[in-house]
Amino acid sequence: MTLPDRLLRALCPDARITVLTGAGVSAASGVPTFRGPGGLWRNVRPEELATPAAFARDPRLVWEWYDWRRQKVAACHPNPAHDVIAAWSRRFPRFTLVTQNVDGLHERAGTRHVLRMHGSLWDVGCWNACRAAPRRWRDDTVPFAALPPPCPHCGRPLRPGVVWFGEALDEDILQHCLDAADCDVFFTAGTSSVVYPAAGLLDVARRHGALTVEINPDDTPSSAGIDVRLATGAEIAFVEIERAIAQR
Ligand code: NAD
Ligand code: ZN
Repeated sequence: MTLPDRLLRALCPDARITVLTGAGVSAASGVPTFRGPGGLWRNVRPEELATPAAFARDPRLVWEWYDWRRQKVAACHPNPAHDVIAAWSRRFPRFTLVTQNVDGLHERAGTRHVLRMHGSLWDVGCWNACRAAPRRWRDDTVPFAALPPPCPHCGRPLRPGVVWFGEALDEDILQHCLDAADCDVFFTAGTSSVVYPAAGLLDVARRHGALTVEINPDDTPSSAGIDVRLATGAEIAFVEIERAIAQR
């Protein structure tokens, strides 16, 4: 893979670097993407499970899916893409990671300044938003003894602490993501670029004059207008970029 000079030059020590990641960054860790092979659970499409309506209809079914995903992810480990991103987050003072991933692998790799657009598989909240419960809290239990697991405050069902289709993103997090899109180098890695508003951050970055870089073995709706297109896995591309900037 040849890395363009302008990319390596742009990655200078005081550069404002923002990396947006999607499910593809965790693919090499063995976490299935939604739209790729192995992503389907019992032949149900995620769009039919990851919604408030699906949860209202059948909380047990939705929790069976999340419990399965939590078990899968618990057995996975961060891959070299997570590791390079974590190293950058410690080395570049103006680095931000925006992730659509809910698996927690960036955090497990030791990444600083993580903005989680879609919440976390490892967070839960009270479905009834009872007064005694905080909005979200971490719960690492795998597997749960009973599904749906009960809220420790009111005994009614807990919900996964993720943002479902049709739900609004946390406004503060979204604002931080938009702020982070005002940068010098913007990477979009392992995302199909079809889920908004994450996919729109690239346009914001471009309007701010950022050098835009896409890392994805397959073309996406974003590929055509990108400055630097690296058509390979994230676990390969980040390692090669890291090697190239370490050598200069
Ligand atoms: P997606 O499944 O729609 O797209 C994944 C993209 O990754 C595809 O474009 C694919 O070509 C690419 N890809 C596959 N292998 C790759 C590799 N080794 N390196 C780089 N790219 C690779 O995922 P999305 O765009 O993140 O959007 C789907 C939604 O699903 C998100 O909201 C996310 O929260 C959720 N999701 C999260 C996880 C996770 O946390 N790991 C897994 C599945 C889905
Ligand atoms: Zn409650």
